[in-house]
Amino acid sequence: MTVNILFAAHADRWATYETPLNTAFEAKGIAAHLSCDFAPADVDYIVYAPNSPLQDFTPYTRAKAVLNLWAGVEGAVKNPTLKIPLARMVDPGMTKSMTEWVAGHVMRYHLGMDRHIVNPDQAWAPHTPPLASERGVCILGMGALGSAVAATLTGLGFHVNGWNRSARDVPGVTMQHGTDGLSTALKTAEILILLLPDTPATQNTLDAQALAQLPKGAFVINPGRGPLIDDDALLEALDQGRVAGATLDVFRVEPLSQEHPFWAHPKVTVTPHVAAETRPVTAAEVIAENIRRGEAGEPFLHLVDRSSGY
Ligand code: NAP
Repeated sequence: MTVNILFAAHADRWATYETPLNTAFEAKGIAAHLSCDFAPADVDYIVYAPNSPLQDFTPYTRAKAVLNLWAGVEGAVKNPTLKIPLARMVDPGMTKSMTEWVAGHVMRYHLGMDRHIVNPDQAWAPHTPPLASERGVCILGMGALGSAVAATLTGLGFHVNGWNRSARDVPGVTMQHGTDGLSTALKTAEILILLLPDTPATQNTLDAQALAQLPKGAFVINPGRGPLIDDDALLEALDQGRVAGATLDVFRVEPLSQEHPFWAHPKVTVTPHVAAETRPVTAAEVIAENIRRGEAGEPFLHLVDRSSGY
């Protein structure tokens, strides 16, 4: 039987995803009709971007699951009309992208690259950075992305500390969890990486109190979500020299407004939410596998827990 799969994302995404999705459905032996346009009552699965025009799921009475194209689901979990299973995206291509992006920005701070790249006085000022094994890196959020980043950084020799909601062992990483574990984790963070989801419990994780617990001169890298950081507290910590630099990929409001002080701050690097885009070919394979599971009556992968919001 043919399954009707609605592609509900911004129109410009259709050209990128149509062929990879159809190829992945065929590879899984799924007889699929993929379209941006169905009568709602005929739809079996919804491939979804939370910024798409589809916001009312009520008429999709036959749909078995919403398969999110993004890792972050804060825009979908709050939708009261979305009551069927919601799977978030865990895409090997996206994960590789995130590990590369984070590793690059960690190495920039670790090696002190800026002092040679931005050197208008042509100063001949050699300095020897510590080895990675002498540098404490901390990752808040040790899920699909945080764990992969940790594996890359431990591979480079860094001493990696991780923090999660629940207790978990991760090989090669010193793990903390829960509210008590946060202080211990922050104290190790010469370079701090935020890879938490945006939920009511994670908002302002990096507030003034948390920033005060970082080693003096720490660096902050945020490819997670904007609301994880209290912007004013971070700016104050940068101005006081407690935090030496910050690379921010995500913001409370995107695009970041031209007036926001992050743009002009000499210690802040702004990147426009580019750390890890979903990669159509690898993501299509994940979506096809979830549809195969749905049709076989097997549990979906990467289901979102509505009560925790991720
Ligand atoms: P994930 O697999 O769901 O992992 C989330 C991690 O955060 C889990 O380890 C979880 O701990 C931890 N966590 C959640 N709430 C917490 C809390 N209150 N206290 C402590 N730890 C908490 O998510 P992911 O795939 O790694 O993605 C993480 C986030 O990255 C996404 O939500 C998205 O916001 C962001 N992202 C950004 C980009 C970009 O381009 N900038 C791209 C992709 C994703 P437990 O394991 O104990 O539950």
